Amino acid sequence: MNNIIDLLVIGGGPAGLMTAKTAAELGLKVTLIEKNKNFQQLRRACSAQFILDNGYEKEFIKLENGKILFTKNNFEVNYTGNLVQIKNKYYNSPKGHKIHFALPGQKAFAVKFDKRKLLDDLCNECVALGVDVRMSTLACGGSDKGDYVSINLKGTNTYTLNAKKVVIAEGANARLTGLFGLNKSRTNFATALVSKYILEDVYGIEPNSWNLFYGKTFFSNAPVIIGPSLYGNNTFELTISGSANAKPDSIYENVINYSPLKKNFENTKLIDKQGCAVKAFSSLKTPYSGNILIIGDSAAFVEVEVQGALMCGYHAANAIFKELKGKNGFETYTNWWKSAFEFNSDEYLLVSQGYALVPTYTDDELDYLFALIENKILEGTYSQYKTPKLIWDEILLHKDKIKSERPIIYEKIKKMNTMTLTDTFKN
Ligand SMILES: Cc1cc2nc3c(=O)[nH]c(=O)nc-3n(C[C@H](O)[C@H](O)[C@H](O)COP(=O)(O)OP(=O)(O)OC[C@H]3O[C@@H](n4cnc5c(N)ncnc54)[C@H](O)[C@@H]3O)c2cc1C
Repeated sequence: MNNIIDLLVIGGGPAGLMTAKTAAELGLKVTLIEKNKNFQQLRRACSAQFILDNGYEKEFIKLENGKILFTKNNFEVNYTGNLVQIKNKYYNSPKGHKIHFALPGQKAFAVKFDKRKLLDDLCNECVALGVDVRMSTLACGGSDKGDYVSINLKGTNTYTLNAKKVVIAEGANARLTGLFGLNKSRTNFATALVSKYILEDVYGIEPNSWNLFYGKTFFSNAPVIIGPSLYGNNTFELTISGSANAKPDSIYENVINYSPLKKNFENTKLIDKQGCAVKAFSSLKTPYSGNILIIGDSAAFVEVEVQGALMCGYHAANAIFKELKGKNGFETYTNWWKSAFEFNSDEYLLVSQGYALVPTYTDDELDYLFALIENKILEGTYSQYKTPKLIWDEILLHKDKIKSERPIIYEKIKKMNTMTLTDTFKN
């Protein structure tokens, strides 16, 4: 059959764009489709912070001379946009007890970046390398014919595109992934609705800090988060996670008008808002079937983060190159995928422990637990895996005290390995 391209990439997020760019550099004939019109109008919420921990996702990224260096996977990505360093992280209890995370010498452990700029630049590089980039184009379905894959596309008209290999990089909701039958073995824990409010003239928030507020007093089971923004001084991002039953907009109204944070938002102006729905599937342990490889958030437990998505793209392109040469590239990719991401290990529920502080513990219990360790500075990290581990390791140093003073809390702690995200996003 004529007109079969080497590779069709579905989704122009960091994973898809990096796949297309790397595959084009390897000499493949690539088409990338993205349902959005352009990257400047990206509306999907993302806090857009790089994690600088040595060993996070088996990598140690560095930002130098307009590049993101992946020092262990041995590749680099151009980035010339703005950066804001994150030097302190605070977990706040309802009454204001703080768990403080920082590195010695106030070294940054995360860096906020401009995701639109990163994607725009990657896309321009793709185009310069000859990738056929089709924006405003939606992949609606298709079938694997054995020798090639046929994908149905909807742009200004509806048509079919045939490719020897397909990479699906459609993000966390994994709709096409499901249509190709790969979600069958996955557990769908919950669907979170997340909105990010960019607010001007926020009062009393420390610059270069990342702040999470836990407790029913903030009207949400998930933490209410305040972090820096790239919009200028005194401008912060407020991130709120809810569910179909507790919409982020109504939580937002309550937080700024009735929560202990009210005073921080008294003269605030809303300058932008972004949002998304995120399905929390368990991860895809074998992320391929036939000629199709699933990468990035589409295959993850919640998220790979942007740096993880770039790594997925880099390894996916190399896997496709190998497959087209008759070698087993998908297996090589799978081995890397399984070892690089913590959610692929059985310990991934540690993440849930971190998020499931509410509703498991009452506001009073959170005040008690946070107060136990508020005089200690824990290691600065943005990792959602390391953070709950650091917190619980420190709290459990007080196990005997908790057992005698607060036996109900002690009983809850004993059960924490059985917690999932489901309760947090149920109501
Ligand atoms: C609230 C929130 C905060 C976050 N904060 C951070 C952070 O601080 N740091 C960090 O690194 N990461 C963060 N993340 C995670 C990060 O956004 C993702 O891990 C990353 O973007 C995943 O990249 P991806 O390419 O796999 O998917 P996505 O970025 O979701 O890209 C998928 C693309 O596919 C397109 N698409 C989907 N379906 C189709 C289709 N059928 N046809 C055509 N196109 C399609 C979408 O429009 C989208 O552009 C956050 C996520 C959320 C929700």
